[in-house]
Amino acid sequence: MTDPRSLEDRALDDPDAQRALLAQRAEQMTHPRLLSAELDRDDHARAALDLLDAIGVDPSSLGDVAGAHAALIARRLARDELAVGRARAAIALLERAERWQASGPIDALAEAKVDLAQAFELVGDATGASAAWTRAIELARQCAETETRAWLVHECARALARDARAVGDEASATELEAEADRADDDDITAQLIGLAPALAWFTAKWTDGEPPMLPAPEAWLSRSTGVVSNASEDPAVAESLRCARVFGTGLDFVCLCGALSGRDTAGAACEQCGVESMRAARTLCRIGHLPLPTKLLHPATLVAGPCGSMVALALDLSDERLAAVLEGRRCLRRAISAPRGADTLEPGSSELREYDEGRGDPSVVIASGEEAVIEAIEAIDAAGALAECEVERRALEGHRSAHTAAGRARIAALEARAKVLARLCEDGASAAWVSEVVPVWSAPWVARAPRAAQLRGAYVALVTECERLSGAWAVGEGDRGALRERVRALLACFD
Ligand SMILES: [Zn+2]
Repeated sequence: MTDPRSLEDRALDDPDAQRALLAQRAEQMTHPRLLSAELDRDDHARAALDLLDAIGVDPSSLGDVAGAHAALIARRLARDELAVGRARAAIALLERAERWQASGPIDALAEAKVDLAQAFELVGDATGASAAWTRAIELARQCAETETRAWLVHECARALARDARAVGDEASATELEAEADRADDDDITAQLIGLAPALAWFTAKWTDGEPPMLPAPEAWLSRSTGVVSNASEDPAVAESLRCARVFGTGLDFVCLCGALSGRDTAGAACEQCGVESMRAARTLCRIGHLPLPTKLLHPATLVAGPCGSMVALALDLSDERLAAVLEGRRCLRRAISAPRGADTLEPGSSELREYDEGRGDPSVVIASGEEAVIEAIEAIDAAGALAECEVERRALEGHRSAHTAAGRARIAALEARAKVLARLCEDGASAAWVSEVVPVWSAPWVARAPRAAQLRGAYVALVTECERLSGAWAVGEGDRGALRERVRALLACFD
């Protein structure tokens, strides 16, 4: 590390040291501002600009890069001056920044113009403010990053609308207000599109005889910003339903403890409280995930379609038989490796007795309950079963029984089974059918949902149940049934 004193000393007569000094100070200014470190850093940065001023060196004469560094320092210092109400000092700094870097990153220039407009307003210079707002909105509209664009266009359009209304220009005011709202909506819409797979987890269902299209967990888990594991609704409580680390504080550009504050901290996570600084509206587009204490069949896989549920069709069972297996009234019997379907046995049957006594067929598994069904779905040779299914359907279509009621019903069932097996052949499908995690929407998203109160209650009940079961030494079939009902209640809010 270079000693900052010696670098400053050398900067008195060495242009290279002057450039290095500006680069170092500019880099320090781009770190998220922590309250504790802020004063010291700002003082150092200011001292560097003062030093060049004192010896009569204009930063832009040191080249474009040095000019850009000096402009960045001046813009950041101006924001601090503005924050404590020293608007004239802020204006002086912003005007120097413009001189040192007339063109450059649009986002930074637009933000600086917004600051300048606010500073002019503070000193009562309406003409200066109006010119700055007008230029700021032109720049803001060109920002590439949607969050920055939404924020800046929103600020500028609101200010210009207020000015237009003050002079009686209602039409312009209305138009500008609409632009402000649109900028917000664009940002939120773009974010929500990325959450479509998480939404599909709740809404996938049979449509026109096509089986539900469930998203693979990784399609939405990658968007999750953290685990939710307790039903508290306090943002300060870790992993709660409103946990600020997962969903944000719901305030514009501040972390939970307040160490991060202001627009230039956007996107940074606080080193102290771990909360990211972002626009309040972005909370809508955050999701967390709730790990379940045991694997569950996704409820959509058990909803009956035209010829039965996805799970029943995949295993080639009737819905009644599948329900009996899930409730422990019958046993599922399937091949150990690569089963292409399954059948069921009554409790107390002779084959079951032989199996229990260790004399049964060693190539089959006989078990009951949801776990047995999950294992069968995970083990199934979907491609092999699909091929067999097609062979049987073609054979049946050529047979004279194809025209009987029973024959037609079997053909329809085989067609439905083929669709379900084709779905199960897709990448990650068995993981999508079996849920281990549940997406958790943010509180503001839930509040905007059509059945907000019901959805909120369903989340509280599900998370509470998961909390209870995570303390249990084993999750029995009865607990699993209760858990499944809680997940169903959640999905029912989306019907
Ligand atoms: Zn913090």
